[in-house]
Amino acid sequence: MKSMLDLKKEKKVDKIIQDFIKKAKKKPVFCRIPIKYSQKFYAELDSAINPQFQLFIARENDMIKDNLRAVCPKCHSWLFGDEIRNFVYIFESLKIHSPNQKRFGKDHLCFNMNCDSQDIIFLWGIPENKRNYILKKLGN
Ligand SMILES: [Zn+2]
Repeated sequence: MKSMLDLKKEKKVDKIIQDFIKKAKKKPVFCRIPIKYSQKFYAELDSAINPQFQLFIARENDMIKDNLRAVCPKCHSWLFGDEIRNFVYIFESLKIHSPNQKRFGKDHLCFNMNCDSQDIIFLWGIPENKRNYILKKLGN
């Protein structure tokens, strides 16, 4: 059973995700959430931004590929666009995932083997020259 604290945290993360999606339709946005919510984040963002696509079908003109970035707040390792999907969704039965992908998608730890971060920062449409500012603001 989930504790009150867990439920409260879940509600807070839900709000962060919904705010991010709402803003992403119009302008650049970023947020920091626990890695364990990254699949929920990705699924909800994808269905809001790309309602015409199914998740694992090859795509053209994919907004996610062009706009979404993920960075670890601790070690500053990056993931780009639709690559993020392959870290968020882990399928045990298909032995196709790298140890880094499993670490992120299943153990909910940073994909960098030498980092113990449990949080991830998602960025949407943020220009490269603003990225350091965001890391300073939300990084460890
Ligand atoms: Zn890290």
